[in-house]
Amino acid sequence: MSKIVPAEDANIALAAGALRRGELVSFPTETVYGLGGDAANDRAVAAIYAAKGRPSFNPLIVHVPSLAAAMELGAFSDDAQNLARKFWPGPLTLVVKRSRKCPLSLLVSAGMDSVALRIPAHPVARALLTASGLALAGPSANPSGRISPTTAAHVEEGLGDKVAMILDGGPCRIGVESTVLSLLDEKPALLRPGGVSPEEITAAIGKPVEIAAPVGDVEAGLHGPGRLLSHYAPDRPVRLNAMDAEPDEALLAFGPQVPVAKTVLNLSESGDLNEAAANLFAMLRALDRPEVTGIAVMPIPMSGLGIAINDRLARAAAPR
Ligand code: AMP
Ligand code: MG
Repeated sequence: MSKIVPAEDANIALAAGALRRGELVSFPTETVYGLGGDAANDRAVAAIYAAKGRPSFNPLIVHVPSLAAAMELGAFSDDAQNLARKFWPGPLTLVVKRSRKCPLSLLVSAGMDSVALRIPAHPVARALLTASGLALAGPSANPSGRISPTTAAHVEEGLGDKVAMILDGGPCRIGVESTVLSLLDEKPALLRPGGVSPEEITAAIGKPVEIAAPVGDVEAGLHGPGRLLSHYAPDRPVRLNAMDAEPDEALLAFGPQVPVAKTVLNLSESGDLNEAAANLFAMLRALDRPEVTGIAVMPIPMSGLGIAINDRLARAAAPR
């Protein structure tokens, strides 16, 4: 049965209810169709990664209804506020530090201290944000490696079985993704070109824009100087495929059979990989304490989200 429904008020209200229950809804933005989920709900964010089938966790853009909502989630410098006032609602995503009490899932930031925020200009996207009262994670609604969807039919074709509903707002006006600009360092850095040009950004804040490799680019991230992926690593050493824990090691467990250890957190007692992904970053952080000598991690199966989990763990365990 088709999941496509016209983006009328009654359907937007139904979609908002589904999102509040942690389900996924595809919605139109002015750039491309988004795969929306509650950005504060770890399980909903894990379901987005599972639906897209990416082999690694790339941080997701979080859509918000207002600058006030954005400023509760992230730390906005003067430049950030000026850019938001000038280009929002619109195709500019700002990467800023997560606020101290940021309630968003760590998975939406791929475990990092930053968050990517934007107010979309599409009236349906904005109506859904208002009706749900949620910040919505919304990567493009296509399976990993396929082209981005600009109609509801594209979404149905790629992800129809993964979403509760697809709100049909017609074809997207812009059709390419938003510009992603990092404001984490003194110099603004372009992580992805899009609807707003570097020249427009420079004109707005009077600063040159550095052209950076995207944070999702593993090669650049790991080897480039001072790149953002350094946030990926816990302070304590990480030991993979552990069948037991040393006396002062913390254990990150998976599944029902757990060896004895002083400090244990279980990613998923039932062996559910989506639950494990939802818990991954928060549990890694919780175990990364000064009194433990390291973090031993039990084997995680290489299927479904297990591939992305293992990718992330391999980076955490890589020699530094
Ligand atoms: P998508 O949500 O699929 O449209 O793409 C998100 C883009 O924004 C990717 O290129 C990410 O690398 C980038 N991005 C999202 N969140 C962050 C973040 N916290 N830090 C740096 N880049 C980010
Ligand atoms: Mg995409």
